[in-house]
Formats: sequence, structure tokens, C-alpha cells
Amino acid sequence: MSEQKSWRPLIKQARRVVIKIGTRVLTDPRGKLDPKSFSRIAGQIAELWQGGRRVVVVSSGAIVTGRKKLGRDRAPLTIPEKQALAALGQPALMRSYEQAFRKYSLPVAQILLTHEDFSSRERYLYCRNTLGTLLRFGVLPVINENDTVAVDEIKFGDNDTLSALVAVLFEADLLVLLSDIEGLCEQDPSINPDAKVIPLVRDLSQEIYERAGPTRSGLGIGGMSTKIQAARTVAAAGIPTFIGNGKTPEMLLRLFEGKIQGTLFLPGARKLKHRKHWIAFVQKTRGEIIVDDGARHALVEGKKSLLPSGVLSVNGRFVPGDAVKVQDSSGRQVGVGLVRYSPSELERIKGKKTSEVQKILGDQYYQEVIHRDDLVLMEEIENPGKEG
Ligand code: GLU
Repeated sequence: MSEQKSWRPLIKQARRVVIKIGTRVLTDPRGKLDPKSFSRIAGQIAELWQGGRRVVVVSSGAIVTGRKKLGRDRAPLTIPEKQALAALGQPALMRSYEQAFRKYSLPVAQILLTHEDFSSRERYLYCRNTLGTLLRFGVLPVINENDTVAVDEIKFGDNDTLSALVAVLFEADLLVLLSDIEGLCEQDPSINPDAKVIPLVRDLSQEIYERAGPTRSGLGIGGMSTKIQAARTVAAAGIPTFIGNGKTPEMLLRLFEGKIQGTLFLPGARKLKHRKHWIAFVQKTRGEIIVDDGARHALVEGKKSLLPSGVLSVNGRFVPGDAVKVQDSSGRQVGVGLVRYSPSELERIKGKKTSEVQKILGDQYYQEVIHRDDLVLMEEIENPGKEG
């Protein structure tokens, strides 16, 4: 099949790989860290490493391990309890990795990140440098979210999202998401257990996203929809994603030999520039600006900046420099951009022509509410492969 020809070299030649390992891959049916699972994963990663590939692991499992240690298996947890249990479980998680990789003389290092480490340019660069240095030292980095200090504002929320941002930061050639999910199925496997897995997805359309649904397994946070969103995030940076069941023996090794036991998502031909990717996928949006049809047309067709005259209304609490959604009057999202005004200023100048804005705000005004260079349109995010 000609389709298969084009993806094989992409995977075979992948040198830098981010592998996210979900809680259920690492635990036994009772939810305890399972040394057999660690050694199965470690054996495969060590072989990839020996073959010259460089791997960064993103691992879940801290909270579950903390729960087990305190025997709080089932009780619902408050956020402070989860944060405490993550602190308790994380060292045990790392110890399991260390033990599993000792056999291969591969030292492991721990990196704990919050979303802030990605939104601050300085910390982003430090993180990238540290990853590079660890790999140069021959050390395998194992990353988790710093759950102990992460509250909503600075949270990734799940490790699928975290691993996608790590893959972009690391400029990976491939993102691998290992969980207890076999891949993207033709139908919801909880409804039809015989549903077939789709091996290759070339178009990460909204339809695929919606088909994935918000399924959540009891132990990990991420379901299929966070995985598809992760695949979209990295596809927009030109990186493919593989999703498969991490308990399938030798699956990783087979993948690099060209056998897909799961689903491979291919990116489009073009990718977003680094800054646009950062605006669209890393920044958390803090509000919405609703624009009229004329402005929507100017943004989408004319590739223009958003001016005060096109603004109908504003929602949310943000400061200049924050990311906001741009929506049309029917509530459809047009794009995401960095706003130059506060909500109170926008209330005063919305719908006004530039000459009037100057009168209202004096000489210290910007012509644009969102400059074209700070705006990413939905069509760029959804179809990074499309010319235009
Ligand atoms: N960071 C969490 C943990 O280590 C897991 C998050 C997730 O499963 O996505 O327990």
C-alpha cells in the first residue's frame, strides 16, 4: 500500500522520542506499581536507546502510588490530599524506574513541571537546556507534573497534555502515548467491544475529536479526548503521535520496525511557526472578544489585525499580553490571540474608529486590539497542512 510507504521512514528515522506512560501501564490489576510492567517498558526503551534514539519519558502514577502507600485506595480525595499523595508517591515511582533501568546501566533523572514552566520563556529555555544536557550525559529524563504545587491556574491537568508540550519543547520526531487503550477505534469500545482500531489517521479533524468522546479510566486522568487533543497539539508542530496499549509486549520495538499495533496520527505538510504554536497551544486563554461579521471577514479572508471598530463585546478577566479567544457573533471561535488592551479599556473603545479611540485614550493607544502577528486563526490550528 502506497499509504504505508510514506509513514514508515518517518518512524524509522525518528531519533528523538517522547513516551508518555499512563498509570494503568505501570500498575497491576490491584493498582499497585508492578515491577514486571516497569521491566517490560525499560527493556524496550533501553533497546531504542542503544539503537541511537534519545527518549524522554513522561510518567504518571505518583498519586496512585501515594494512595496505595496510605491505604486510601477508594476514598475521594480533596485537592490538598492529592497534592500530598503525589509528594508521597513520586519518590517510589522514581525508585521503580531506577530499579528497572539499572540492568541497562541507564541512569534516570526526575523533572517535575507546571504549566508556568511553559508559559515563561525563561523557564522554558532552562527546561530545554536541562533536557539536552541530561541526554548528553547519557541520562534518561523522567518527567511528571509537579502536582504538589500545581493548582488550576498553573496546571496541565493531565499528562497527555504535558507530554504534548514536552514533545514540542524537545523538538521530538515522535510522541508515543501508552495507556490501556488499544488505539482510536471505529466505534466506542465501551459500547462495542469488537470495534476495530484505526491504524492510521491522516486528518485530525473535528469529527475524529468528537468521536473520541470524553472517556475516563478510573486511575489516570486522561481519556481518549485528551489524547486526540495531544495529537492535535503536536501535529500542529509537525510531529506524529502513536497511541497504543503499553501492556502489549514489544509493541514499541515493533512500531519502529514498521508495525502499528495501535493508532498512528500523521501531521499535515505544514506546521505552525514556533511563536504561533505557543500562542495557540501553550497559553491559557483568559477571556473572549466577540467580533462583528466585518471584522471576522477581515481577520479570516484579509489576514488583517483586529481593530477596536470590529469589537462587539468582551468577556473574562485579562491583562494586556494575555491570550484570549476571538469569537464571531454566533459564538464560533475564529482564533486565539494576544490582546493589547484590558477589558475596561475595550469596553470604552469597542465599535469605535481609530480617530475616536485616540480621543478617548489619548496618544498612548494601539491601533490594533490584537495584532495580526499575535493572532492564530482556527483554520491554521485545525488544518496546519492546508496551504494558505
Ligand atoms: N500527574 C499525575 C500522577 O502522577 C497523573 C496525571 C495523569 O494521569 O494524567 O499521579
